[in-house]
Amino acid sequence: MGRAKEEGLRRDELMQSAMAIAIRAGSISADCPHETPIDLLNPDPAFELAREEYAKGLHQEFDSQTELEEAMQDAFDSTGQECGACAKNAAE
Ligand SMILES: [Zn+2]
Repeated sequence: MGRAKEEGLRRDELMQSAMAIAIRAGSISADCPHETPIDLLNPDPAFELAREEYAKGLHQEFDSQTELEEAMQDAFDSTGQECGACAKNAAE
């Protein structure tokens, strides 16, 4: 596996971790039965919760708080698409 691909995978995993924080913070709504992140609400609580928890020593998968915040931004950038499974159900 190439280095670029490994980094892409790691980035994706970090993004998923950040996404979970954002959903807990209420910054991203996953309001469908498939828990697909759909709506970006207010980003601030997610950054606050991430900083607070990182300061407590949680989220060791991130090398730094900056990396956590970058992953959080990735998570926000990936919202806003409708859930594919819901869209499929609606079309049937
Ligand atoms: Zn869905």
